[in-house]
Amino acid sequence: MSVVVAVDGPAGSGKSSVSKAVARKLDFSYLDTGAAYRVLTWACVDAGADLSDEEAVVGVLRSMDYRVPLDPDQQNFQVGSVDVSQMIRAEEISARVSSVARHPQVRVELNQGFRALAEKAKEGIIIEGRDITTVVAPDAPVRVLLTADEEVRIARRQRQPR
Ligand code: C5P
Repeated sequence: MSVVVAVDGPAGSGKSSVSKAVARKLDFSYLDTGAAYRVLTWACVDAGADLSDEEAVVGVLRSMDYRVPLDPDQQNFQVGSVDVSQMIRAEEISARVSSVARHPQVRVELNQGFRALAEKAKEGIIIEGRDITTVVAPDAPVRVLLTADEEVRIARRQRQPR
């Protein structure tokens, strides 16, 4: 079992930047769980699935041909042969992720996948996102809740690629 560093915190607190920097420094893997939810949302929209239908969303998740990048410097997201790295950051997806993320079975299955990746990581892994410090890796030796002033968070959100 590798060392797990679990990172949570509000939007714009710097979770991704800090997690990537630490992963680079320690030569650890880096897992952006928010991106996984975004990729699933993109795949559901692409498949024309009803996002309010849990079974439909779980169906897309189970059939999705998707590999999770674990290199902090190589965050390319692909579904099948389509590079969705830019598309998952689009406003249309940002506005819809929560509809997908609210389904309990979706969370259970994605969290299982995150845990499996953590177990396979060689040295260690930084896992970033909601539920990570509490549900996915509550026993992680390092659990971080990042915070930042509201003005800083707003400014950072505005600078993020859309
Ligand atoms: O971190 P990011 O903005 O990419 O996350 C997108 C959305 O995915 C969050 O707003 C949240 O709705 C969902 N999410 C989640 N659990 C996680 C990571 C993200 O529900 N562990």
